[in-house]
Amino acid sequence: MAGHKQTDPQALTARLLDWYDRHARTLPWRAPPGMRADPYRVWLSEIMLQQTTVVTVAPYFDDFVARWPRVADLAAADLDDVLRAWAGLGYYARARNLHKCAQVVADDHGGQFPESEAALRELPGIGPYTAAAIAAIAFDRPATPVDGNVERVMARLYAVTPPLPGSKAVLKELAAAHTPAQRPGDAAQAMMDLGATVCTPRNPRCAVCPWADACAARAQGIAQDLPARTPKPERPTRRGVAFWAVRSDGAVLLLKRPTRGLLGGMMEVPSSDWLDELPGDAEAQAPFAADWRLLPGVVRHTFTHFHLELVVMAAAAPEDVDATGRWVVPDALSDEALPSVMRKVVRHALAHV
Ligand code: SF4
Repeated sequence: MAGHKQTDPQALTARLLDWYDRHARTLPWRAPPGMRADPYRVWLSEIMLQQTTVVTVAPYFDDFVARWPRVADLAAADLDDVLRAWAGLGYYARARNLHKCAQVVADDHGGQFPESEAALRELPGIGPYTAAAIAAIAFDRPATPVDGNVERVMARLYAVTPPLPGSKAVLKELAAAHTPAQRPGDAAQAMMDLGATVCTPRNPRCAVCPWADACAARAQGIAQDLPARTPKPERPTRRGVAFWAVRSDGAVLLLKRPTRGLLGGMMEVPSSDWLDELPGDAEAQAPFAADWRLLPGVVRHTFTHFHLELVVMAAAAPEDVDATGRWVVPDALSDEALPSVMRKVVRHALAHV
């Protein structure tokens, strides 16, 4: 009815599904509207997409499914190969859990992902959001995955002004009321697409939104300001030295980090402790005694809980050097499981040595 404002959540979802049938994004892991996707592909993409964008993930996803087409293939893969293929996606605990999860699915579930949210949550690396996403998208269970996109859309549609994270439970309940009995998987993906392409963090495109006439934030002119957030405490900055050791044949010294902890199991350019202040005796932590020379500039990287500033010291390695680690020629560096921060160190060192 023209001019009638529809606010029943299920009716709004029906309208959203119509919109999705016309505007669904084509994504490498996605089945067309009305079709069910392969659970392995849904799971892999959801783990990769945590904290990362669709554009970044797509080539990694294609590479993973080409190398390991089924969950059993990934389970049988060497963890180092998985970490190497993951390098650059960040949050490496996810890659280790990914591998562990593949093994549990292969060994304990006969290579088939369980279908219920509760059983999915028992698997390594699968939290409430991912369990709900897989249950809905791969198995068409009426589950409600709620991520930052969905929270934003709900906060705006209902003009929820109390800030996140306090308002999380309210937003989740609002989202759940939108989950339909029919096509819950498409509804979940439609909500994700709406948040990613129309109800975007900045400059939401309300004029083309299927919910424009029902949206309370739009009516009040506060869409841009929602969701409100309680400010986060400042991240501290830590500082350290990375040691760029070059042998006469050009090979560079790399070390494997301990399996547990930040960047666990990944490769690194050997570095000092990372502390609030640059360690005064940093050279004492070098992999071997040499004439270490400070390169100009600083390498900066931001982790979830802190900023990191690394300076780089370089030295030629004596012929008979005895150092823990592995010597890698520059051409082979791109094949190593180097996390983003260490790739920055490599680029910085290659530019300045
Ligand atoms: Fe978001 Fe605008 Fe649609 Fe409201 S009308 S849901 S603010 S895009």
